[in-house]
Amino acid sequence: MVKKIWLSPPHLTGEEQKYIAQAFEENWIAPIGTHIDKFEAELAHYINTSKKVVALNSGTSAIHLALKLAGVKNGDVVICQDFTFAASVNPVLYLGGIPVFVDSEKDTWNMCPHLLEIAIQERLLNGEKLGAIVVVHSYGMPAKMKEICELGKKYKIPIIEDAASALGSKLEKKYCGTFGDFSVISFNGNKIITTSGGGILICNSEEQKEKAIFYASQAQEKAPHYQHAEIGYNYRLSNVLAGIGRGQLEVLNKRVQKRRANYLFYKNALQSLNGIDVLEEPNGMFSNRWLTCILATSFKNREKIRRALAAEHIESRPLWKPMHTQPIFKECSSYLNGVSEDLFARGLCLPSGSSLSIEDLERIIRIIKSCF
Ligand SMILES: *Cc1c(COP(=O)(O)O)cnc(C)c1O
Repeated sequence: MVKKIWLSPPHLTGEEQKYIAQAFEENWIAPIGTHIDKFEAELAHYINTSKKVVALNSGTSAIHLALKLAGVKNGDVVICQDFTFAASVNPVLYLGGIPVFVDSEKDTWNMCPHLLEIAIQERLLNGEKLGAIVVVHSYGMPAKMKEICELGKKYKIPIIEDAASALGSKLEKKYCGTFGDFSVISFNGNKIITTSGGGILICNSEEQKEKAIFYASQAQEKAPHYQHAEIGYNYRLSNVLAGIGRGQLEVLNKRVQKRRANYLFYKNALQSLNGIDVLEEPNGMFSNRWLTCILATSFKNREKIRRALAAEHIESRPLWKPMHTQPIFKECSSYLNGVSEDLFARGLCLPSGSSLSIEDLERIIRIIKSCF
């Protein structure tokens, strides 16, 4: 049988093993230990920030704690990017918040600042309390953070930056994950580097970091017995997994280079077909190209490509289904311009792993070309 090609599988070097072995030797098989502290410090160093970094067990739990630390309460409205993965929004519901969706602009496929301001003004006129704004760097492409953070300041609404899939991406030479009042990065198995499962919360002060660790460790009050005055969670990262993360950080630059090379390879091979579009980097933006996404001319043509790849054991996936069309969010308000629906109808994520060989890429391109 021909080799199955996955969308974005984990890519380990073997070097992770030395950190895992060290955790075993020291018997720190726990959500505490030196790998966790060092992983946090090394990540902060990579994204070149003096902000505080907290290692957690997933990107989703990091978004949950970000919303909680931002002060989102039951009944608060949280403005969320419409074009994203459900994990950006589900934590709003954990806190009893009310998501309101804002569509994307065409340059980056991320939250449209113009629509965002319309949404803010209308909700405020309605007398609603706006608890936070969740903005996403979809597929690694930075959102228009300058404009969005300005709106956050102007209307005094905390910005939560979902950089789950954008580790290594930059905007005006500044790393994604450093723009929000709170920022989140994921190390799930399909991301650019992985800890098998894991996440990072980035916040502004030591006090916030302590609070995050408090909530992530069952909200245990300072007492010799178990004392609890608030709801807690079990969200800290395992020291063993932090070790995997340290090994993966060593090759992050290479992983970014390879994902960007995948994108270029696809672009060069497919642009002559006259029927496939890709998203270019706007000025000042640097994408880690976590996933290479293409746009066909119609839903029908996109499906033709997706089915042809699937028949050859090659995984591809339509772009995010917009949140306003998801049954779970059907009661939510949204501010739409047609962009997210169009991306969902025509867009496809191609295999983008950093372990793809030239032969793999050529095979994929051959199959796509056979559809034309
Ligand atoms: C992967 C992802 C998440 C969730 O991260 P997990 O670590 O899987 O919980 C959230 N938002 C976006 C945009 C993602 O791509």
